Amino acid sequence: MIRIEQVSKTFGQGKNSVVALAPLDQFIGEGEFIAIVGPSGCGKSTLLRIVAGLETATEGRITLGTSQLKRPVGFVFQDAVLLPWKTVAGNIRFPLDTSGVPRKVGDRKVEELVELVGLQGFENALPKQLSGGMKQRTAIARALADDPAILLMDEPFSAVDLMTREGLNDELLRIWQATGKTILLVTHSVEEAAYLGTKVMVMSARPGRLRKTYDVALPSPRTEETKTSADYLD
Ligand code: ATP
Ligand code: MG
Repeated sequence: MIRIEQVSKTFGQGKNSVVALAPLDQFIGEGEFIAIVGPSGCGKSTLLRIVAGLETATEGRITLGTSQLKRPVGFVFQDAVLLPWKTVAGNIRFPLDTSGVPRKVGDRKVEELVELVGLQGFENALPKQLSGGMKQRTAIARALADDPAILLMDEPFSAVDLMTREGLNDELLRIWQATGKTILLVTHSVEEAAYLGTKVMVMSARPGRLRKTYDVALPSPRTEETKTSADYLD
């Protein structure tokens, strides 16, 4: 659960200040997949960074319904930002090592995550040996290593080609279904948003203007070609 109450962000002061995010209210339920669209500069990345705790809000409040967890949020960036000198397995286990998880438990977790994102056989590959899609899979696995309740993704597939992207979308829906995570994903594609999201949040750059969240309508009758995230729910 994520409760966003009148959250805003302003950079700088006075004449030189920039409103990065105008006051926003939003409630996101457990296990929802929220796809966020909106024009460039409307504050999508800023919102995700605030939810992740990488940035503090100027005003307002964010409540994450997972206070018992140490680090409830995983983040996947537009570029995978993997450690170039570490292997796929090394990158995935990095957050586990830094939080002092015992070696054996870490090994098992990495194995599980490699399987979840379909990277079996590439455990010992270095990032430079991977395709863009494989790098993002590695980044997703790493973001999930700490078992966060919430997964934040900022245009995760915008750097991969369309075919790969479509495959990754289905993969992501499968991962979402298998893990029950709450996902917030920013995309520039309305089509992708409607395909992935249980809800699509449309943000506007203009303060005081519309911020609306739409339920994704299910086509009827459903066909293979018109599968949406709701089809992955039990
Ligand atoms: P895009 O779709 O291009 O990624 P966005 O919706 O993610 O855009 P943000 O990156 O959140 O937009 O930025 C919102 C606004 O805040 C922009 O005008 C940006 O220039 C400004 N901004 C973001 N970060 C900072 C910063 N650290 N200092 C000053 N201004 C910033
Ligand atoms: Mg952005």
